[in-house]
Amino acid sequence: MKDLIDRLAREHDLADDQLLALITLEDPEAERYLAQKAVEAREAIYGRDVYIRGLIEFTNYCKNDCYYCGIRRSNTCAQRYRLTQKEILECCREGWALGFRTFVLQGGEDPYFDRARITDLVRAIKAQHPECAVTLSVGECDRETYAEWKAAGADRYLLRHETADTTLYRHLHPENQTLDNRLRCLADLKDLGYQVGCGFMVGSPGQNPGMMVTDLRYIQQLRPHMVGIGPFIPHKDTPFRDEPAGTAAMTLRLLGIIRLMMPDVLLPATTALSTVRGDGRLLGMGYGANVVMPNLSPQSVRKKYALYDNKAATGEEAAESVARLRESMESIGFRVVIDRGDWKGEQ
Ligand code: SAM
Repeated sequence: MKDLIDRLAREHDLADDQLLALITLEDPEAERYLAQKAVEAREAIYGRDVYIRGLIEFTNYCKNDCYYCGIRRSNTCAQRYRLTQKEILECCREGWALGFRTFVLQGGEDPYFDRARITDLVRAIKAQHPECAVTLSVGECDRETYAEWKAAGADRYLLRHETADTTLYRHLHPENQTLDNRLRCLADLKDLGYQVGCGFMVGSPGQNPGMMVTDLRYIQQLRPHMVGIGPFIPHKDTPFRDEPAGTAAMTLRLLGIIRLMMPDVLLPATTALSTVRGDGRLLGMGYGANVVMPNLSPQSVRKKYALYDNKAATGEEAAESVARLRESMESIGFRVVIDRGDWKGEQ
């Protein structure tokens, strides 16, 4: 197995059956080696810097009905909220003072936040903090809308592709959502000059390791600047309430593989990973991750943005605890930096 890992580190690619063997690897020694090589690969480009992003979950209204998601339209138990522009700007002001230089605006697909309102919001944040980066994560839109937001100052866009396998996509989403449109969005975003992030849930219901190879192939072909992966975690008020969660071990392995395939990619250790394993963030760093996204939303809404059960929302998940995050990263030899944390690859 070490040979395969060395080859992946050297050539950034393997045959499908070899990738499959790595994904399903159950050998502690080989896993340690994968982690070591992934950390080396990230260090060669990003050193031991950890980039922080302030995550602002500004609306949990959503017109979509993804079967896995706690803020899906049909979940009548969800307590809906939306932040005002003033509240969002206040989150950014607090974040700036804490050392955040990237703000990620994430929400459900909320018709209230239409093209014009998001344009306004991006302009207002950029006027208040001209040196920050703004990341949008508000789902699928037409190309013209993405272009307008880019012109307004948005720098990055996160849109997980969720799965590149058509059958699994259908299993996870109702008929009106299509994989073709999701991938069209990602292609448009990249073409418009955004730093783009795609990604998928690990262990989503119906997923098998072969489908993960399909995801890796799609990621290789898109060449995104960021890849967001985290375990699927069931939510009690969704059709997938009784499905098992994805594991930390599989997520970590995939982080390591993605780092070796794309050494320059921005790779977050996600909140979902911290939710399935308390020390998930630190472990993620040990498998090549270099980004964390503490929660900068007002305390009062954090629990309401519940995509899955038992979401980690306190301690180092919270932006106001960035000092503690700094200390724990330093304890494992990493350094949280005050920086926009742009992609360092070559197009
Ligand atoms: N509406 C935007 C979109 O569709 O990209 C952004 C918000 S969406 C809730 C953000 C991400 O949460 C999704 O891309 C999905 O991968 C993740 N997510 C949703 N439900 C989840 C669950 N039950 N477990 C883990 N991740 C989940």
